[in-house]
Amino acid sequence: NTFAEIDLGDALNLNIRRCKYVKPTPVQRHTIPISLAGRDLMACAQTGSGKTAAFCFPIISGIMRGHIPQRPRGVRTVFPLALILSPTRELSMQIHEEARKFSYQTGVRVVVAYGGAPINQQLRELERGVDILVATPGRLVDLLERAKVSLQMIRYLALDEADRMLDMGFEPQIRKIVEQMDMPPRGERQTMLFSATFPKEIQRLASDFLSNYIFLAV
Ligand code: AMP
Repeated sequence: NTFAEIDLGDALNLNIRRCKYVKPTPVQRHTIPISLAGRDLMACAQTGSGKTAAFCFPIISGIMRGHIPQRPRGVRTVFPLALILSPTRELSMQIHEEARKFSYQTGVRVVVAYGGAPINQQLRELERGVDILVATPGRLVDLLERAKVSLQMIRYLALDEADRMLDMGFEPQIRKIVEQMDMPPRGERQTMLFSATFPKEIQRLASDFLSNYIFLAV
């Protein structure tokens, strides 16, 4: 009933207290245990429902505690462990800001990449290393084409406001991105899909990207 009762790891629990979050919102209360148990998830969530924390907490906790795979070094390609896809630059910036607060002193590094801004600063941030990448689909495809980012090591994928991403015409980019994650050597990937609405197109994405998933309408 409170975050103190959920063991997310000491550093993350401390950051949650620092953010003055005491009680999980309904979306958080229902989704966090499912994600911590390692299940794929499709959840109905409106803006303001606390969905950012709902997908950030299990990802940060999982990376902090999980076995971090050896990642290639010395090349100009980075290998994030988690990817959060969001439709707009503004939303990506917000998620990045929150995720950074949650990951303070956890050793987990969060980087953001969005379109409509010069790529060079983002490249410099990426080159310093990245565990969680927050990105808009178009800019991420650009980074993949330049071989600056590899999705080979992705263990967690969160799609935020999936219906809005489809409305904006990002379906081809999203499919291209997920295809790269599915290329061998393909490890275990946990996927969380958040959307405000569930038209046929979203249901199709869910059946293509999620495995044995739990559907939650809060
Ligand atoms: P979101 O839906 O993720 O954009 O969150 C909406 C707002 O609620 C943000 O300002 C969050 O910082 C805040 N928030 C999220 N979860 C909680 C919580 N459990 N307790 C208090 N505030 C929260």
